[in-house]
Amino acid sequence: MDRAVIPIAEHRTLPIPHAQARGEGAMRDLRARALRDLRISVTDRCNFRCIYCMPRDVFGPDYEFLPHSEILTFEEVVRLAGVFHGLGTEKIRLTGGEPLLRKGIDRLVAMLREALPAVDLTLTTNGSALKAHARALKAAGLDRITVSLDSLDEATFQKMNDADFPVAKVLEGIEAAAAAGLGPIKVNMVVKRGVNDHQVVDMARHFRGSGHIVRFIEFMDVGSTNGWRMDDVVPSAEVVYRVSEQFPLEPVEANYRGEVADRWRYLDGKGEIGVISSVTRAFCATCTRARISTDGHLYTCLFAQRGYDLKGLMRAGAADESLAIAVDAIWRSRDDRYSEIRTAATPREPKVEMSYIGG
Ligand code: SAM
Repeated sequence: MDRAVIPIAEHRTLPIPHAQARGEGAMRDLRARALRDLRISVTDRCNFRCIYCMPRDVFGPDYEFLPHSEILTFEEVVRLAGVFHGLGTEKIRLTGGEPLLRKGIDRLVAMLREALPAVDLTLTTNGSALKAHARALKAAGLDRITVSLDSLDEATFQKMNDADFPVAKVLEGIEAAAAAGLGPIKVNMVVKRGVNDHQVVDMARHFRGSGHIVRFIEFMDVGSTNGWRMDDVVPSAEVVYRVSEQFPLEPVEANYRGEVADRWRYLDGKGEIGVISSVTRAFCATCTRARISTDGHLYTCLFAQRGYDLKGLMRAGAADESLAIAVDAIWRSRDDRYSEIRTAATPREPKVEMSYIGG
């Protein structure tokens, strides 16, 4: 994989950012979007081989994951998180790869919580190790958790995770997280036509009334290896229609501007679902997210082809102020809107993989 990176040494000479971090006058990119959310990939490894994310024929025994020396240390993660918080970031999501595979993840959560008491701290996991980690994560200061689960049907789920991992263990993880107080839990289901779309209504039925929120995600052309085709995408409108036929729904206002999922609530009061329509209803215009890859490169779009080497700056001795200057300059020149300009040809462009950049 080409992890091409733009050198950012020149940013060191830029003037210190003078913008306010939050509110009116906050740092904005070229499309007037603020920097509010940061996703940090804490490992590029995963114990699943989901066909739409880390297909086994690419991420097989010969695949070279990052060596330990290239991965951000916890201290470096906390430092970067602090710099981003200083520039307006209010929400941090730990992801990967599978974040619960990172040794000492509970300690990282505790370190982030101590350094940034006010930040909204969340994590996305495949749930495989959640039962063992849930209480410690909560005690360390994690606010909420999102669990990925693509089907309740054993054969379908195993076909998607390609790691023989059973549904029941993920459900146990979800229940352990709820019991630990990490709710409301969001359950992410990537919908791929002809593979698991027959499970949409079953997922809605299973989690109705549980307090957990299923979010149906359109299959995306992230990375360059998942063989994405538009024909495999089930548009969110179809998902809403199918669920609503069984359990009538009505739209709900977003919790905040820039919320990724569109919310729909059951008319009988049994909770809500979300749909994430990155393909059919792109939300680039309100995207306030930045991503830090496992090896400390900043990406300003999930579909980016290039990152900026913040780890290199840190390890070369840059002070926090210099890091802030660099991030400020990168954000101000951000013009990404991949999902708005996606065409039949764009999925073939070389993009970084989601496991590395952080989902
Ligand atoms: N391992 C963790 C997990 O499974 O949740 C975190 C990383 S994973 C990359 C984060 C999220 O991205 C998951 O909910 C996953 O389903 C979603 N995802 C991965 N590839 C995707 C794709 N091609 N289209 C849509 N969502 C995708």
